[in-house]
Amino acid sequence: MTKDQNLNCSFCGRKKAETDLLIAGMDAHICDKCIEQAHGIVEEEIAEAKTTSLSKDLILKKPKEIKAFLDEYIIGQQETKIAMAVAVYNHYKRLLQTKNDDNEVEIEKSNIVLVGETGTGKTLVAKTIAKMLNVPFAIVDATVLTQAGYVGEDVESILSRLLQAADYDVEKAEKGIVFIDEIDKIARKGDNPSITRDVSGEGVQQALLKLLEGSLVNVAPKGGRKHPEQKFIEVNTKDILFIAGGAFSGIDRVISKRLNRQAVGYGASIEEDKIDEDNLLQYIIPADLKSFGLIPEIIGRLPVLSYMNPLDAKTLRAILTEPKNSIIKQYTKLFEMDDVSFTVTNEALDYIVEKAIEYKLGARGLRSLCEAILTEAMFELPSSDTKEFAVTKEYAESRITKSALQKLKAAS
Ligand code: ADP
Repeated sequence: MTKDQNLNCSFCGRKKAETDLLIAGMDAHICDKCIEQAHGIVEEEIAEAKTTSLSKDLILKKPKEIKAFLDEYIIGQQETKIAMAVAVYNHYKRLLQTKNDDNEVEIEKSNIVLVGETGTGKTLVAKTIAKMLNVPFAIVDATVLTQAGYVGEDVESILSRLLQAADYDVEKAEKGIVFIDEIDKIARKGDNPSITRDVSGEGVQQALLKLLEGSLVNVAPKGGRKHPEQKFIEVNTKDILFIAGGAFSGIDRVISKRLNRQAVGYGASIEEDKIDEDNLLQYIIPADLKSFGLIPEIIGRLPVLSYMNPLDAKTLRAILTEPKNSIIKQYTKLFEMDDVSFTVTNEALDYIVEKAIEYKLGARGLRSLCEAILTEAMFELPSSDTKEFAVTKEYAESRITKSALQKLKAAS
């Protein structure tokens, strides 16, 4: 027997004669059978790593935990927080569903539409969910979107933003969240004076549909440094969660009309006094969106519909101090970094809320009011020896002059 025939596989021990091929390494040998087996193991491990990396990247919590997370940042809006928690949970369960079983029930996407006045927290809800899940997040304004060929942005630009947010990692972007703001502005309106805008509104809805239902889209990687040579990147929108938001101003009349019609239809069984006229949005149903001018196909692709409550004084007051990163907590931190202990009296906080309501500034106005009150102190204190700064109602009043308020109102 030659020396060569004495060689055997270092993994399974087979003699060279028993193998089809024996490959020599530095100090060991491997046979064709072991290579095949090892290849199988590598494939399996990679596939498994992909699924676990998806579940690792996505910090998926149960609906109650998702709601508790939202509670830390968003005051009130219980119905929307619950609807979102369930929708997001189901959406990501769908992503984690193994695709091996042909007979498996296919879970459909749960894109969401949020209806509520501006400044009630629609963007905040979407942003907070993306933060919790640790997925790329992009905000786009539907008003800038136009049908292909018109002046403005094509709907595909939505995906360019998402790609940008994902740092051009296509796989990550394909699991991201997109918030489409002002979806109501692309509604088809019967009484719209501009016929062209009306047509393009419906055209944009049609174009959006393609993204919402899940398709392969060629996206121009705007400003992408990583792919300068690439004209288009193909993005599959099947697993992207779309959250649309809009004020749908005037939809309360549509709801009211429908409710009254129903009341007539049922005779006197639905008592009118049961309807909360001050917050009609809580009765919203998909048909109202259709009456408002969204095409049925779009409504069908946004199956989860929820509403935002208007913000009353109590809620605005809580928004100032309670969220994990509330405005007041942020200022406290800023002053703390200069070793200044910062406090605000309850009366001062009530005053800020009062002005936000009086001047119809909403939650966004809270921040502008605080800025107006605190800018001077933030300018002066870092260069002074003052170590304590207490904002009283009188101090707040002295900083918020009529002209300052007028300016805030104009800017909001
Ligand atoms: P929308 O998208 O409905 O116009 P945003 O989400 O942009 O409103 O809200 C504007 C700002 O108001 C947010 O940045 C947030 O600070 C504050 N805000 C609004 N609603 C709430 C809320 N329910 N809880 C906490 N903060 C809120």
